[in-house]
Amino acid sequence: MFIEQPPFFFRMLFPGACWRIDKSRKQVYLTFDDGPIPEVTPWVLDVLDSYQIKACFFCVGDNVKKYPDIYRMIIDRGHQVGNHTYSHLHGWMLSAEKYQRNVDEADTLIGSRLFRPPHGHLPMKCFFQLKATYKVIMWDVVTRDYSKRMTAKGVFNVVRRYTRPGSIIVFHDSMRSWSRLQTALPKSIEWLKAQGYSFGRIDDE
Ligand SMILES: [Zn+2]
Repeated sequence: MFIEQPPFFFRMLFPGACWRIDKSRKQVYLTFDDGPIPEVTPWVLDVLDSYQIKACFFCVGDNVKKYPDIYRMIIDRGHQVGNHTYSHLHGWMLSAEKYQRNVDEADTLIGSRLFRPPHGHLPMKCFFQLKATYKVIMWDVVTRDYSKRMTAKGVFNVVRRYTRPGSIIVFHDSMRSWSRLQTALPKSIEWLKAQGYSFGRIDDE
């Protein structure tokens, strides 16, 4: 469960980062990481449209550069975007300067006040620097849709087991998650709606 729902001590490493929003409202926040890509992102957008749900896409700058039309579709269809670095950097060990440059490079393409570090790993110095400019949006539920060891049903079960009021939920619009996402995303949305959850917008002001 340490992966699916990050424990308290891990959250405490990042003071001021956002993991869960209003605990008193039956509302969740859907987020999609690692896109945009032509094979998956348009399908996700169609699914979200069919339920009239808005989500937040944490985009990789390199993908935005490669697929500007797909990126434009996300914006045009009313969703939020966030910075997920230019080249999906990860690791505590990178220099803060290198990491910051990579985030800045993505910012020239994305221009959002929301930032999510890939894998939740970044140099601590950089975390504190980035907080001055960005709202750092982490997560309350990781569906593990990217994992080869998971089935679509397993991904859905993560959503069912760990979601609670205010949860920020992570899916991936990536090739790694595609085979599971096709079933798990609509099934999860149906279940969330049946439980009475609404779908909120992350404050990016
Ligand atoms: Zn990522």
